[in-house]
Amino acid sequence: MSQASVKKAQPADSKVTPMMAQYIEIKTANPDSLLFYRMGDFYELFFHDAEVAAQALGITLTKRGKHQGADIPMCGVPVHAADDYLQKLISLGHRVSVCEQTEDPAEAKKRGSKSVVRRDVVRLVTPGTLTEDRLLDAGANNFLAALSRLKAGSQEGDAIYGLAWIDMSTGSFQVSETDHQRLSADLAQIAPRELILADNLLQETELRQLVELTGSALSPVPRAFFDGSTAADRLAHYFGVKTLDGFGTFSRAELTAASGILAYIEKTQLGERPPLDPPTREAGSGRMLIDPATRANLELSRTLSGEKQGSLLTTIDRTVTGGGARLLASRLAGPLIRPDIINQRHDSVDFFLNNEIMREHLRQTLKGAPDMARALSRIALQRGGPRDILSIAQGLEAAQSLLDMTGQGGNIPTELAAARTSLEKAPHALGAELMVAIKEDPPLLKRDGGFVASGYDANLDELRALRDESRKVIAQLQANYSEQLGLRSLKIKHNNVLGWFIETPTAQADKLQDDPARFIHRQTMAGAMRFTTTELADLESKIASAGERSMAIELEVFDRLTSEIVSAGDAIKAAAHGLSVLDVSAALAKLAQDENHSRPLIDESRAFDIKGGRHPVVERALKHSGGDSFVANDANLGPQADRESGCIWLITGPNMAGKSTFLRQNALIAVMAQMGAFVPATSAHIGIVDRLFSRVGAADDLARGRSTFMVEMVETAAILNQAGDRSLVILDEIGRGTATFDGLSIAWATIEHLHEVNKSRALFATHYHELTALSQKLDRLTNATVSVKEWDGEVIFLHEIVPGAADRSYGIQVAKLAGLPASVVERSQQVLSQLEEQDRQSPSQSLIDELPLFAAVPTPQTAKSPEQPDPLSEELSILDPDDMTPREALDALYRLKAIRAKASAI
Ligand code: ATP
Repeated sequence: MSQASVKKAQPADSKVTPMMAQYIEIKTANPDSLLFYRMGDFYELFFHDAEVAAQALGITLTKRGKHQGADIPMCGVPVHAADDYLQKLISLGHRVSVCEQTEDPAEAKKRGSKSVVRRDVVRLVTPGTLTEDRLLDAGANNFLAALSRLKAGSQEGDAIYGLAWIDMSTGSFQVSETDHQRLSADLAQIAPRELILADNLLQETELRQLVELTGSALSPVPRAFFDGSTAADRLAHYFGVKTLDGFGTFSRAELTAASGILAYIEKTQLGERPPLDPPTREAGSGRMLIDPATRANLELSRTLSGEKQGSLLTTIDRTVTGGGARLLASRLAGPLIRPDIINQRHDSVDFFLNNEIMREHLRQTLKGAPDMARALSRIALQRGGPRDILSIAQGLEAAQSLLDMTGQGGNIPTELAAARTSLEKAPHALGAELMVAIKEDPPLLKRDGGFVASGYDANLDELRALRDESRKVIAQLQANYSEQLGLRSLKIKHNNVLGWFIETPTAQADKLQDDPARFIHRQTMAGAMRFTTTELADLESKIASAGERSMAIELEVFDRLTSEIVSAGDAIKAAAHGLSVLDVSAALAKLAQDENHSRPLIDESRAFDIKGGRHPVVERALKHSGGDSFVANDANLGPQADRESGCIWLITGPNMAGKSTFLRQNALIAVMAQMGAFVPATSAHIGIVDRLFSRVGAADDLARGRSTFMVEMVETAAILNQAGDRSLVILDEIGRGTATFDGLSIAWATIEHLHEVNKSRALFATHYHELTALSQKLDRLTNATVSVKEWDGEVIFLHEIVPGAADRSYGIQVAKLAGLPASVVERSQQVLSQLEEQDRQSPSQSLIDELPLFAAVPTPQTAKSPEQPDPLSEELSILDPDDMTPREALDALYRLKAIRAKASAI
């Protein structure tokens, strides 16, 4: 039902049933989400919601009654399976309001037979506010982000943006400030599942396109959410503090974003307050800037086709816990740019590389450790169950074991020492109590009962014994009575009207009737009489209430334990982080050992000296396929001789030789080194890379299904405008998406600009062999090629990068390998020979001779004024070839050459 039709269908409509009137009222208040309306054991959806959900979930659309003369479409999902359906709807980008019955149906009946059970929306489920394990990926953060903008000037580029992001499933809360240029890279680093921003921002085409690129579900909210004047107060209020000073200083942009995100959380969680860490500032400049195109192109966390398998992240992930996997993913998403912190991370990896036995014990223990951070968040949000308590207990137990294990390591590096301290400070006494309180394998929901371990609460044990052994107790009582009275036919029975009673044949009832103070008559039947005793009545009421009372005790225990957990929340969270740090460090050490990675040297220089570098993903794929082994290659892009800036390597070489692999492996080595991992190389010396750019020409880009030459150029423009002398630039076949000479010219000018203006360390792969001539003029440009052998007309790829330039592309040989029909291959050879004979003399030499260096190209202002006569043109304009003898023509030609020679001399 559209919002308009909801509005029309007011409850005043006389034909609307009271229940439907209630539905319409609730739906009207929650127009932007699918309404799960609780009816008994089902969540029902009606009207348009039902149509949308039935289609999305593949469930049957039925109907229920009529509304304004038309059938009401309806579909439903069973409550016990609701999580699965929710997951599907959320993953399709829907939002769901969960509407529960908020009173007992018996209560409603008391108000009259026609009254409807009270219902209310208790939660708004959105992609960025999930906490349930079944709805989440254990190894990935689930970020909700908010974007705010402050106008600093009249230009778009002057604006300042605030970003706040929260993972509600763990409570992490970060903020940062950024600008227009960095915005998309910063959003790509966070990769939010849901992004909220003021609705007016979403109406701006450029900004909308930029945020749409993140792939997040976009949730526009009223501008008032980002009100700067109340932002600090909202934050202080949320955290129950008078001032934010204790949390650090925040900029106005950061405060408005943080306040916007809290407003949204308050709206979606309807009063519940997720336990968030106080916001921490993530200085954008503290991370390597990697824009979305570079991330995609390098396949950092997903392949170009969108899969996780085959990405760098899955290739290097050896973590054994969910928390560890999330920490690794976030480190990969945001490599650092401070050598001291990076070196601390390398120290941790080194430590576990040298302490293998400890590492393997630690990994074994971590394997069994549950996700404490997520369990804690659910508990604090009142969504936790007995299993979450057990998770905390087991997590704390693992923390204790790890503490004991790592204590024997002698000199422990800084980062691991900090992790140990957080484990030391964990509430171990509470952990021990939880361990004895909750039985093994408890139910998911507290309302199922039976989760408190026996031996924990004496009253509960007694009640349970009574309930569980009721039959035994009754049988014992029956045996006692029958023995005392000498009546073998006496029985104790139960029915719903009398409850428990003693029954004896009428013929033998006098023995009981003789003692009326003890045996109280209840009923006379044909042939039998029924009695009770105070003893039996007491037992009966005890049995009847035992179930209820044990449930109440269990809930009491649950509440007490969960509130103790929440009070110790900060220490638990810190311990959970400590476990993740240990997991990541040990996992990276294991990776380094298994894959033969080495520790990179990171400093503030401009070095980029990789010896024996390998591409971790391609190497692994080759290993798995059992084919050739990977050929390691060196790259040295650092300043050479006494120059200050880094170098550009221009790589030419046949198709399929391994150019793209070589380019990417060097970018990946930089990312891995700066995220704190060891690298696939025999040695690596890297001066901090602050920005990483990687682009492929349009031809390769087509695989991504979105590329055109325009995109290629926009992306190249972004690099040339942003890259600096600390950047690493990887350009693969730039200019390929257009006609040969246009492409060659663009590639030519791009290299010159990188060399003269950006001064970045760069790798540039190309099939334009003409470009290799540039190395004569550009002193920091080095030619390199990938070696191949030719054997019997076939090419053999050696995958070795060697100095020098390729003479040709071997494209036709590669086409032959690919199975192009022999006739086409043969014809191509003919055409190629023809072309080579005619016009394939390289234009490069004349260009090299004649074109001035890039920086010397006259700008339009300084270019020669058009009024000044050009002698060559003047001479040309007076020549009339039709009116000349051959001799005159030859003379004219000599004249023209002489004029030109004179001009060059000037
Ligand atoms: P094109 O010019 O056609 O785009 P290319 O030169 O960029 O080709 P790549 O795509 O990098 O070539 O590599 C082609 C294949 O060669 C890879 O898929 C990989 O299997 C293999 N390969 C590349 N580099 C190496 C290496 N160093 N050692 C072993 N095999 C390699």
